Amino acid sequence: MPRVRRKRKPKAEAAEVSRRILALATSRAGKNLRQAEEQAELARKVMLRFNVRFGWDLRRFYCHGCKKLIVPGVNARVRIGSGKDKTLRLTCLRCGYVNRRVLG
Ligand SMILES: [Zn+2]
Repeated sequence: MPRVRRKRKPKAEAAEVSRRILALATSRAGKNLRQAEEQAELARKVMLRFNVRFGWDLRRFYCHGCKKLIVPGVNARVRIGSGKDKTLRLTCLRCGYVNRRVLG
């Protein structure tokens, strides 16, 4: 492998870059979903390339089923589960996978 000049914190930078791309993607998903999906894909690639882990705040924008961008109100349905254990259910309208998250 060729030697690459090392940046100070490539991982932190990658996380920052992918976070920005994803923020941009989600902000325009309502207008241009196709473009937003491409950007989300790019953000995911950067993340995987640098082995960066997204927290829930970013991961929730990806469907666990088809690994694509899901934006509530655009291509995902959000439901709060009732009962003792409150769960947030994010249903992907593309593949139908229900992404669950226990709240609290
Ligand atoms: Zn999906």
